[in-house]
Amino acid sequence: MAKQFVQNVTGMDEDFAQWYTDVVTKAELIDYSSVRGSMIIRPYGYAIWENIKDALDGKIKETGHENVYMPLFIPESLLQREKDHIEGFAPEVAWVTHGGEEELAERLCVRPTSEVLFGEHYKNIIHSYRDLPKLYNQWANVVRWEKTTRPFLRTLEFLWQEGHTCHETDEDALEETIKMLDVYADICENMLAIPVIKGQKTEKEKFAGAKFTYTIESLMHDGKALQSGTSHHLGDGFAKAFGIQFTDRDGKLQYVQQTSWGFTTRIIGAMIMVHGDDRGLVLPPKIAPTQVMIVPIAQHKEGVLDFAYDMKRRLSSVARVGIDASDKKPGWKFNEYEMKGIPLRLEAGPRDIENGQVILVRRDTGEKVTVSIEGIEETITALLHDIQENLLKKATAHREEKTSTAVTFDEFKSQIEKGGFIKAMWCGEEACENKIKEETTATSRCIPFEQEKVADTCVCCGKEARDMVYWAKAY
Ligand code: AMP
Ligand code: ZN
Repeated sequence: MAKQFVQNVTGMDEDFAQWYTDVVTKAELIDYSSVRGSMIIRPYGYAIWENIKDALDGKIKETGHENVYMPLFIPESLLQREKDHIEGFAPEVAWVTHGGEEELAERLCVRPTSEVLFGEHYKNIIHSYRDLPKLYNQWANVVRWEKTTRPFLRTLEFLWQEGHTCHETDEDALEETIKMLDVYADICENMLAIPVIKGQKTEKEKFAGAKFTYTIESLMHDGKALQSGTSHHLGDGFAKAFGIQFTDRDGKLQYVQQTSWGFTTRIIGAMIMVHGDDRGLVLPPKIAPTQVMIVPIAQHKEGVLDFAYDMKRRLSSVARVGIDASDKKPGWKFNEYEMKGIPLRLEAGPRDIENGQVILVRRDTGEKVTVSIEGIEETITALLHDIQENLLKKATAHREEKTSTAVTFDEFKSQIEKGGFIKAMWCGEEACENKIKEETTATSRCIPFEQEKVADTCVCCGKEARDMVYWAKAY
C-alpha cells in the first residue's frame, strides 16, 4: 500500500554489499567525501557511536582504568624500537614528511595504534611495584592505510579506544587481557545483541608485537565472519624495547608485563550486518538514539498533536522518545523510521485517542498491536526489553544455523562455499593455515576457549590435531 514511499534499498539476498552501502547512506549514518576510504559520520551515526562509547567507557572506568590522551604523530625512530611491531604495521602506516614547505629531519607516522607512545611514557612514570598496575585507556582516532575499505568495517581512519596497561606479573596481565575481552563480549551481547565467539588468535593472526591475542568473532547475515574486538597480552616485549622496569617487592629490578586492547567504529558495521533487513537498519533498543518514534495520524484534527506531545513527555521517563509532527505523510514517516531502525513506532489518530489507546509497531517483527494508554509506560518498557532479547536470540539462531563441522578437507571446501563458521581440527602448523587460506580464502578466526573435539586429525594435513578452530571467510 505504502509502496510509493519505499526508498530503494537493494535486497540483502540479491546483493549484500550493495544493500549495506544503501543502508549506511539512506539511514543517514554516513556520507562519502573526497577522502579515499574515509567516511563522514553523520549525526545519526555519531549518536549511535556515542551510545556505544558511553556504555564501554563506563565499563572501562568501573574496572579501574583512567582515560589519557597521547599525541597523534609518532617519530619513526620510536616506532622502530619494537621489531615485530614495526614489521607488522609498516605496510599500513601513513607518513608525514613535510611541515609546511620544509622537509622534516625525521618522518612522523600518523598513529596506527599507540603502544610505542605508551611505552615511552611508562618508562618515565613507572619505577616501583607501588606504581603498578597502571591502567590507562585512550579514546582517539587512528589511521591504517587499508587497501580495500568499507564504511565502519574497514576505514583508513577510524575511531576507537585503546587500553594500555602495565602489571607486576604475567598472571596479572593475563587476567587483565581476559577481563577486557569479557567487557567487549558483554557490550556486544547485552547492548548490541551480537553473539560472539571468544578465543585466541593463531600465531599467524596475532597482533604484531604481542605474546598472544584474544578475540571476539561474530557472524554477519551473509555468513561472513568479523573480528569484532581484540585484547592482547604483550608480555615484556615492549617493556624490554622501551626499558620499562620496576623494583619489585623483593627489591629486584623487573620488566613490567603489559596488555593492550581495542574496540572500534567497526562494531557499528557489525550491528548493521547482523540485524538489518530489506527495509533497512534494525537497532537494538539499548543502542538506538531514539527508541520510540511517535507519528501522529490526521494531525490537523483537533487534539491530535496535543495528545502526541503529551505522550512524548509521559514516555520520556522510560524511553528515548522522538516525535515527527512535520507535514510529511504518515506513510513516508513509517518508511523513514523503519529505514532508520527505530525499535518502536507509536501511532495515534483521533479515533485511537477517543478510545484511550494507541498503536505500537515493532521494527524487529513488524508486529502491530493496539494497546491501552493506561499503563503505557510499562507496556513500552516490556516491549523494548523483548525486542532487545529477540534480536540476540535471532542472531544466535542464525549463527548456529550457519555453523557446521568438517572432518575432511573436501567437506571443508564444499561447506565453506555456503558461508558461515566451520569448526574443524588443526595440527597447529602455519603451513596448514596458509594452505586453507590459499585454496578456500577462509581464515582461522580463533581457537575458541570452549574446545570440542570434532575429530582426531587436522582437517588439512591429516596429522594429529592440536586444537579445534573456527574458520570462515571474513570481512
Ligand atoms: P588491533 O589493534 O589491530 O588489534 O585492532 C583492534 C580492533 O580494531 C580489531 O579487532 C578490529 O576489530 C578493529 N579494526 C582493525 N582495523 C580496522 C579498520 N581499518 N577499521 C575499523 N576497525 C578496524
Ligand atoms: Zn595440519
